[in-house]
Amino acid sequence: MLRLFQRRPAAPEITEIEVFYAGESYRVALKRMASSRRYTLRVRSATRDILLTMPAKGSLKSAREFAERHAGWIGAKLARLPRPVAFSPGARTPLRGVEHIIVHRPAQRGVVWTEMTPEGPALCVSGEAPHISRRVTDFLKREARRDLEAAVDRHAARAGVSPKRLVLRDTSSRWGSCSHRGNLNFSWRLILAPSFVLDYLAAHEVAHFVHMNHSPAFWKVAHRLFPETDRAEQWLKAHGASLHRFGAKKP
Ligand SMILES: [Zn+2]
Repeated sequence: MLRLFQRRPAAPEITEIEVFYAGESYRVALKRMASSRRYTLRVRSATRDILLTMPAKGSLKSAREFAERHAGWIGAKLARLPRPVAFSPGARTPLRGVEHIIVHRPAQRGVVWTEMTPEGPALCVSGEAPHISRRVTDFLKREARRDLEAAVDRHAARAGVSPKRLVLRDTSSRWGSCSHRGNLNFSWRLILAPSFVLDYLAAHEVAHFVHMNHSPAFWKVAHRLFPETDRAEQWLKAHGASLHRFGAKKP
């Protein structure tokens, strides 16, 4: 027992390394796991980030060597992923499943609005160029909140439950979640998906107020609230990751 007290303080945990290969640099996140027997690399398509899991007692040197040895593989993986799309003039972004071209209208009044143009549906942005990306993001979040609040209210009334607060997030791991305290969390990116997908997520989270799990009983409630549950799940499985391509990433 005494030895415990004499142990030197542990070196600070390094959670990220940078690897250079063929003129490119990659940031690799390190995750030590008690259950890991070996070093494993993963490139997540949603966020384009690189994760190296390693044994709890593995060395930083081995981790770096492993990542450097497989830097070519990382590069090839990233190259195959769809390119991120910045919210800038001329870029195309989906809104409720419909592609919109971003058009800068510096002189016009208003902030962001939609309009039909000869090139198709457009998301028009006024003001100065450096603010375009933020304004588009703010607009999409406002629209997401409006659609989600309406959908949650509708499903909650049918299910006979009353969620308290709706919070928008930008998580890559889940589209929605709910807490025991009655809060509902959703990814604002659902506004990019076809409307039935957003509607489904609202129904799914509301159904968790009836069953806080994914039991058959829960799915029964989800299907009752939203008959197209399977179709929406399939859409998210096939296209969900692509929604993370658009706009600025969270810092
Ligand atoms: Zn769920």
